Amino acid sequence: MTTKSERLLALLGVALLLGTLLAACGSTGSNTANSGNEQSIAGLQPVSLGPGEKLQAVATTNIVGDVVRNVGGDRIALVTLMNTGVDPHTFVPTPSDTAAVHDAHVVFANGAGLEAHLQELLESAGGNAAEVHVSQGIEFLPPPGDAGQEPGSEDLDSHEEEDADPHVWFSVPNVIQWTRNIEHTLVALDPGNAGYYADNARAYIGELEALDAWIQEQVDTIPEAHRKLVTNHPVFGYFADRYGLEQLGAVYPISPSSSPSAQEVAALQETIQQYDVPAVFTEDTVNPRLAQQVANDTGIELVPLYTGSLGGPGSGAESYVELMRYDVTAIVEALQ
Ligand SMILES: [Zn+2]
Repeated sequence: MTTKSERLLALLGVALLLGTLLAACGSTGSNTANSGNEQSIAGLQPVSLGPGEKLQAVATTNIVGDVVRNVGGDRIALVTLMNTGVDPHTFVPTPSDTAAVHDAHVVFANGAGLEAHLQELLESAGGNAAEVHVSQGIEFLPPPGDAGQEPGSEDLDSHEEEDADPHVWFSVPNVIQWTRNIEHTLVALDPGNAGYYADNARAYIGELEALDAWIQEQVDTIPEAHRKLVTNHPVFGYFADRYGLEQLGAVYPISPSSSPSAQEVAALQETIQQYDVPAVFTEDTVNPRLAQQVANDTGIELVPLYTGSLGGPGSGAESYVELMRYDVTAIVEALQ
């Protein structure tokens, strides 16, 4: 590291410290997120918007962004940080992301430890954005990799998760909870548009309820003995729990950011053979090299899904609802 960049870092440190001090002195309202802590929606106060000025919102993942857009419509100005194909576990914010967060009234994050660099981003951005985790109020499942472990036997610091499985969006009722949280946040910050946000939320929840019922019908067509999932990383805890499948194993047993051992890969291959699993499901945000190798070695099919990110134009997974329909269709086909 050069002396120049060290000096810059030191300056940045001073700026951060000053920002924190100023925030501490100036925070009379309850909307400041400078402490880097998640905000309870009940404590949010209206922001003052000039004539024609829209509420400035930031969403971290593009799946969260899609749900925020469904509620906020054209009455909010929305910036989504992660482009399609970006893995939320390993997303590193850019200076323009920091600027968007600085200027925002509210930042919507998945939470539950999904966005590894979220706190750094909020702290370095400064500003007065309320930090709202859309997953608040959801009953979390234990983090991936915890199943079958003795309590305390796993070093939680060895991966980026907190104490929850963050992949909540694979159970539709959880996204209905997101929708309510987003609606209540927008209504609290921008009460002038309360009726608009409530109408949008109601219509979208109707769509989600139909999606939830459709998924269950689809899964119910899979022969019971085949309702077993092997994935690239364990994204389907909530999906399995909600719709009656079993998440048997994953190529990356904890998170795509930590590689499996040779023994773990061997154990997975044994499981695939033991249960006669026909496919391993991969995802567009993580290199499928290792999954391909497992599929080749066991002679099973590799089936690509969309998991942590929406698909790009023409993918058929350009919204949350489309993503779920795409994945469920592919899963049902592969497991028949
Ligand atoms: Zn994940």
